[in-house]
Amino acid sequence: MDERVVPQQRRLVTEVPGPRSRELMARRHAALPTGVGATLPVFAARAQGGIVEDVDGNRFVDFAAGIAVTTVGSSAPRVVEAVSDQLSAFTHTCFQVTPYESYVAVCEALNRLTPGDHEKRSFLVNSGAEAVENAVKVARYSTGRSAVVAFDHGFHGRTLLGMTLTGKVMPYKQGFGPFAPEVYRAPYSYPYRGTGDLPATLSMLEKTVGASNIACVVVEPIAGEGGFIVPAPGWLQGLAAWCSDHGILLVADEVQTGFGRTGAWFACEHEGVVPDIVATAKGLGGGLPIGGVTARATVIDSVHPGGLGGTFGGNPLACAAALAVIDTIESDGLIERAKQIGATMLPRLRALQASYPAVGDVRGRGAMVAIEIIDPTGAPDAARTATIASACHTEGLLVLTAGSYGNVLRFLPPLVIGDDLLDDGLSVLEKVFTSQPW
Ligand SMILES: *Cc1c(COP(=O)(O)O)cnc(C)c1O
Repeated sequence: MDERVVPQQRRLVTEVPGPRSRELMARRHAALPTGVGATLPVFAARAQGGIVEDVDGNRFVDFAAGIAVTTVGSSAPRVVEAVSDQLSAFTHTCFQVTPYESYVAVCEALNRLTPGDHEKRSFLVNSGAEAVENAVKVARYSTGRSAVVAFDHGFHGRTLLGMTLTGKVMPYKQGFGPFAPEVYRAPYSYPYRGTGDLPATLSMLEKTVGASNIACVVVEPIAGEGGFIVPAPGWLQGLAAWCSDHGILLVADEVQTGFGRTGAWFACEHEGVVPDIVATAKGLGGGLPIGGVTARATVIDSVHPGGLGGTFGGNPLACAAALAVIDTIESDGLIERAKQIGATMLPRLRALQASYPAVGDVRGRGAMVAIEIIDPTGAPDAARTATIASACHTEGLLVLTAGSYGNVLRFLPPLVIGDDLLDDGLSVLEKVFTSQPW
């Protein structure tokens, strides 16, 4: 049997977590701070396709994809081949010291694939937070303004500016202030909870910040960590139009929604919105750390030489991976596959909603879907959400929670997951609902 092939079947051979995972967890607790969280109490040994296998031999159906990273699957064949080839050629030169072609090719691909046919420029960084930070740097430089608007339910990373832009205090900001100055928060459109009326938001921003002081608006086209909130139709477009009327740059944080996840290359496309700057990361590298900043040439070219960059940004291994990811999405029709995954999941989740009043909302686009869990009064039920997630884990289904109120179960399967596994994962979720003490 080929050791590298992970059978695409859920399998539980020990309790969860098993003995080997418990041993490693004890070492982890002794060596790491508690501040670094853990969703699943097991340690990974192998992962491929729609399965994560743990060190005890248990196999979990993967509805998380490492938080929307392994869109093309973990250790995807083209990624493994491209990175292996690069590994034996060279591992690092620093692009600003000795450039290499793959970095340029990733930037060309970003310029080609991000929304809009205007002239664009891209550069590469190491993470989503770094991409967002750089987008703000560029926006401030090119507008000469300092104010930045971010939204309720937004998540933009864990660096100082990233957490400042992030809407949720616990756990991301609690005790970590003071925060970066000149960041203003506005209500996000949240149709299920009836908040985020756009005209009121814009008029509030004009009165409290002043449109002419705002460099950029940083927005997720679908709020990810905030709970897979799809804004009301037209909201993003209205925001983009207002930005354009006032010389404000629209920064789309497509870190979680990008690279096919929502059934389009980028989620802005669903709304026909063309951002001035796009921040990417997560799915771009197929598991290797890489982020991108793509901006209008007229906006970004003003920055002086040496103003942008970094030691590791666009590392050659990560660039090789990113090119293989883009090739895989294009060659294997994964954008279409993301739509199919959504079309399979949404009806099953809506059926759950019809049977269980605790399922308040079902929403999402493509392979980025979620359910919001409420108590009998309609209030967010974080405790029940955590119980359901942990019951799924025990049954061999890897799911994540999200949401400003912690009451969203979100599903982000790798786009290469097979129909059988997708069906099996949904059956586990249905079984967990049936066995809850309602
Ligand atoms: C994950 C995420 C980030 C931060 O990315 P890191 O690579 O963890 O720094 C930023 N924005 C969004 C929308 C994200 O989902």
